[in-house]
Amino acid sequence: MRLLLIAFEGPEATQGAGFAQSFGMPFDVLCVEGKGPRDTGAERVFEAGLAHGETADGLAKALAGAANGYSHLAAVSSMRSKDVLPRVAAHLGAAMVTDAISASSPTVFQRPLVAGSVIATVETLCSPVVVTFRPPGFPKPEARGQSPVEPMPLDVQSKAARVSANERGGGGRPDLTQAKIVVTGGRPLKDAQTFESVIGGLADALGGAVGATRAAVDSGIAPNEAQVGQTGKIVAPDLYIAAGVSGSTQHMAGIKDSKIIVAINKDPDAPIFETADLGIVADLFEAIPAIRRLIGK
Ligand SMILES: Cc1cc2nc3c(=O)[nH]c(=O)nc-3n(C[C@H](O)[C@H](O)[C@H](O)COP(=O)(O)OP(=O)(O)OC[C@H]3O[C@@H](n4cnc5c(N)ncnc54)[C@H](O)[C@@H]3O)c2cc1C
Repeated sequence: MRLLLIAFEGPEATQGAGFAQSFGMPFDVLCVEGKGPRDTGAERVFEAGLAHGETADGLAKALAGAANGYSHLAAVSSMRSKDVLPRVAAHLGAAMVTDAISASSPTVFQRPLVAGSVIATVETLCSPVVVTFRPPGFPKPEARGQSPVEPMPLDVQSKAARVSANERGGGGRPDLTQAKIVVTGGRPLKDAQTFESVIGGLADALGGAVGATRAAVDSGIAPNEAQVGQTGKIVAPDLYIAAGVSGSTQHMAGIKDSKIIVAINKDPDAPIFETADLGIVADLFEAIPAIRRLIGK
């Protein structure tokens, strides 16, 4: 058995190394964009050196071409891997396991269904095993050795072309999926400016990332890439602060691996208080300035 850990961006190689190490099988890392870490215990680190934003159709075909000799192809769960890995599996005629949160063996995985209210155990009988996984469910990676680095040119021929890429906000803030502190705002934030000053302001004061509910994103209050939840990003920070967030099943599916959840909501019966470790029943427009005064920022 041999595993290829596909990292669309360099940090995913570090995040995903714990998964690769946990099976005790030899593994290589393929960095699609940028450079990968050398100290994950990978036998080789391949760097494809692609530009940002290759579309999934051509990329999937190229990655399937690189799969020869591997029993496992794995990637950290992300919007990108959700787009690309199932297509890789289709090219290889393999089954796809999405969002594994733990593993009983190299072919048996646990994964959430129905926004996390059911945990299914799935076994794949196909080879190769194609899997995306959530790193918090697997051991933390140990720094090991110094892997040799080799270029791996990927011949990406896409039928689709990315004609524009709009990225808003977030300048200088930590990546949402890797941040130790996340401050999330919901629908009551009213507009983009209020969201940025209240939620962004607290996030900056704490050195954290900014998240949003889908209701906030759909209302144009928050950028799309900030959405947390079942159809957004999965986060697992040490501290998750949710302000004006009701606690829908779909939102909670994205935050359940957070170590401490603090909810600020003016409705004492809001569902989020059932899960939160700490609850503040208050108007967020009073509570957040008060928190900032307390921490002196
Ligand atoms: C298939 C599907 C997928 C979905 N995926 C996602 C997803 O990935 N992520 C996601 O977030 N949602 C997702 N949703 C939407 C989800 O069901 C909820 O509609 C959404 O999470 C609600 O967002 P919210 O909590 O901001 O808004 P609301 O439900 O409107 O809640 C706002 C909360 O703010 C409180 N509040 C109001 N004013 C204040 C104030 N001044 N101070 C303090 N508290 C205040 C209210 O008491 C309320 O609890 C999905 C839905 C579907 C059907």
